[in-house]
Amino acid sequence: KLGNATAKAELGRAAWKVLHTTFARFPEKPTKDESEALRSFVHLFQRLYPCGECAEHFGKVLEKYPPQVSSRSAAATWGCYVHNIVNKRLHKPEFDCSKIGDAYDCGCADDEENKAK
Ligand code: FAD
Repeated sequence: KLGNATAKAELGRAAWKVLHTTFARFPEKPTKDESEALRSFVHLFQRLYPCGECAEHFGKVLEKYPPQVSSRSAAATWGCYVHNIVNKRLHKPEFDCSKIGDAYDCGCADDEENKAK
């Protein structure tokens, strides 16, 4: 358990950024293997998350709302939904999940196309 609230918040911001960006870049039409990889990633992420209190609570969230891995939009919408559950618990404002589409750009879009530029 991280004792320092600032460190815990920084870890959380970084973690959510990685999660939401991963969902935003997940294939629109994933293979079975890609869907299973995302499901495993989310469960292992929860299991290994360094803030013990956070991991424990997030485990309960995952039991109730298992990761949605059938498409990019399903994953992104699910990610937004579960982050809002955590927001609510921490008395933070709810995020408008209709805006999730534009919110997470990794700067790595069109890697292939940009090679020539
Ligand atoms: P954050 O919640 O970190 O969000 C960062 C940014 O993401 C926001 O500024 C906003 O732009 C955007 N955002 C907000 N909501 C959403 C959403 N629903 N969908 C998409 N984008 C959004 N901290 C604790 O103290 N106790 C806990 O039990 C706890 N559990 C956590 C569990 C997990 C799995 C994670 C990843 C973090 C957890 N945290 C917990 C940390 C906490 O969620 C915050 O990350 C931290 O408090 C910093 O909050 P913040 O206000 O900077 O914004």
